[in-house]
Amino acid sequence: MSRPHVVVVGGGVAGMAAAYTARKLAREAGAGLRITLIERDARLGGKVGTEVVDGCLVDTGPDAFLGQKPWALQLVRELGMEDEVIRPLQRRFYMLIDGGLHEVPHELVSLVPTRPEALWKASFLSVAAKARASAEGLQPPLRGQDDESLASFMRRRFGSEFSQRFAEPLMGGVHAGNPDRMSMAGIYPMYWKMEQELGSVTKGILGMRARSVLKPNAPPQSPFVALRGGMQRLIDRLEQALEGVEVRTRRSVDALEPCGGGVRVRLDDGDELTADAAVVTLPAFGAAELVAPFAPGAAELLRAIPYASTAVASLAYRRSDIGDPLEGTGFLAPRPDPASREPEAAITGCTWSSNKWEGRAPEGIALMRAFMGYADHDADVREKSEAELAQAAHGALAGLLRIGAAPVSTRVYRWLRAMPQYEVGHLGRIARIEEELSATPGIVTAGSAYRGVGIPDCVRQGQEAARTALAAAGIGTKE
Ligand SMILES: Cc1cc2nc3c(=O)[nH]c(=O)nc-3n(C[C@H](O)[C@H](O)[C@H](O)COP(=O)(O)OP(=O)(O)OC[C@H]3O[C@@H](n4cnc5c(N)ncnc54)[C@H](O)[C@@H]3O)c2cc1C
Repeated sequence: MSRPHVVVVGGGVAGMAAAYTARKLAREAGAGLRITLIERDARLGGKVGTEVVDGCLVDTGPDAFLGQKPWALQLVRELGMEDEVIRPLQRRFYMLIDGGLHEVPHELVSLVPTRPEALWKASFLSVAAKARASAEGLQPPLRGQDDESLASFMRRRFGSEFSQRFAEPLMGGVHAGNPDRMSMAGIYPMYWKMEQELGSVTKGILGMRARSVLKPNAPPQSPFVALRGGMQRLIDRLEQALEGVEVRTRRSVDALEPCGGGVRVRLDDGDELTADAAVVTLPAFGAAELVAPFAPGAAELLRAIPYASTAVASLAYRRSDIGDPLEGTGFLAPRPDPASREPEAAITGCTWSSNKWEGRAPEGIALMRAFMGYADHDADVREKSEAELAQAAHGALAGLLRIGAAPVSTRVYRWLRAMPQYEVGHLGRIARIEEELSATPGIVTAGSAYRGVGIPDCVRQGQEAARTALAAAGIGTKE
């Protein structure tokens, strides 16, 4: 009798985690399982990768992940890489306000600071804004709504200035999102529920502290971790751990067809695979094309998930050419206040990588990662040449950090249609997609389009999809 067969479509971190987990669980269950992983590109990893550029270690997409969401860190440990996990060398970072860098008191990152003085130390907020943000706990809750935009929620709870100059760039930047459209319930469910269930964010955070979930006197530690050799290390180790999995790169899946409880998978080289289950980890617009013939409603909803294009400009300078002391890990540039008519900054933020992570650049070199483009503001990223983008990033940094010479090395990584946008109502849309696809149990979706864009959430979704696929293939697994 032939072994059950699971096909994973897409070899980004979600697809690799799915293939790895399917292999592991089948072994634990003592079941024979054939696994095929199909990836369109020449390499595995999707958005995750690292290059060595003129002696610098440059992450081309993500450079770190949240340790508090446990799934990626657990996977790293399982792969025997715990000793490769590094934490930021320092935490200080800034907001670019009115042309100058203002330090962000680290206690403010949880929105409700441990000590009230922290908010009063923020030089980028007016006294009125500080008073308004401090009074969050007194604002009446707005209950009975399913969702709201990040900007609307934050402005209502903490006031416009605090929101525009701090909360929106901090919380929206990671998603390259437009805060006027981003789903609060979908992206920050914890804060959303605090208002719904407790009446205020302040109450929720103080409650967490009382239960020691947040430790008031703990030394400040960044929630982010990275890998000493760059994020590509995770991909390399996962690939090694896929022994026995049939990996086909430079092949794309053109069509899926449900058949007799399983699925037929058609590849671009004309090959056709028959599987008990397929785990589809493509961006929403790619998944839409595959499910359209048998789940047209789900396809339409998938197509409606917008994507933003972004670019990472990696710039290496001679340290001696930079006038600024560079004390910290970088800065975020808030959107201009709509009332001010100020132009948008060319970059949305910049990480001073060689200050933040060990081993990023040779002695005497400062390595920077500048971010460009976000939802509804990504035309430059799509249309300008890489040289123009590098020049714009350099121009934005040169005046601000008193840089007296051109970078000694530059690279621009352009990520077109790369960041799924969880707009208001996202979770409802995903629930409807999953409901329609439940009619074809052999076809499972996972990845950044659905329930979390960060690496930990992509790993978790890949793992969950593997369990569902194994169940469809008749292999029982322990929870
Ligand atoms: C610039 C940037 C910075 C980021 N920074 C961070 C960060 O610091 N921390 C963090 O946690 N997250 C970060 N993210 C988000 C995170 O990197 C991604 O959400 C995550 O890597 C997506 O993984 P995925 O497997 O869902 O999708 P992808 O990586 O997009 O993988 C999908 C794969 O499917 C393949 N494919 C497409 N069509 C087909 C087909 N028809 N057949 C076969 N294969 C196909 C693609 O080639 C691709 O390899 C960042 C993202 C970007 C773009």
